Amino acid sequence: MVLKLKQMVFLLLKVLLGSLDFAKKLGALCDKDKIIVNSKMETNIKGLLACGDCTGGLLQVAKAVHEGAIAGLTAIKL
Ligand SMILES: Cc1cc2nc3c(=O)[nH]c(=O)nc-3n(C[C@H](O)[C@H](O)[C@H](O)COP(=O)(O)OP(=O)(O)OC[C@H]3O[C@@H](n4cnc5c(N)ncnc54)[C@H](O)[C@@H]3O)c2cc1C
Repeated sequence: MVLKLKQMVFLLLKVLLGSLDFAKKLGALCDKDKIIVNSKMETNIKGLLACGDCTGGLLQVAKAVHEGAIAGLTAIKL
């Protein structure tokens, strides 16, 4: 499966750099130690998604997996 460049952003955010530092460098809106996302896991930057502990709230696996699934569905529509 070949991912589009925009879809890769989702993966890069989690893998390449610490997600919070990376998001801040890109200009994503953050509130202290969490990245601000909407219900689709989108940040204020088009094509940049975030999920899991970096978005704050419950720091639990179930929440991270839930948000990851939503972010994945959003990414394939980019
Ligand atoms: C000790 C402990 C016990 C826990 N117990 C539970 C529990 O019982 N039940 C539960 O639901 N939750 C538990 N949690 C919380 C749970 O682990 C997290 O909520 C969940 O792992 C968050 O998933 P995530 O994908 O957002 O982040 P993570 O699982 O932290 O994944 C982030 C990944 O990014 C990598 N990474 C970071 N920076 C870089 C970089 N610069 N370059 C490359 N890779 C990088 C990290 O190595 C890591 O693999 C526990 C946490 C801790 C610390």
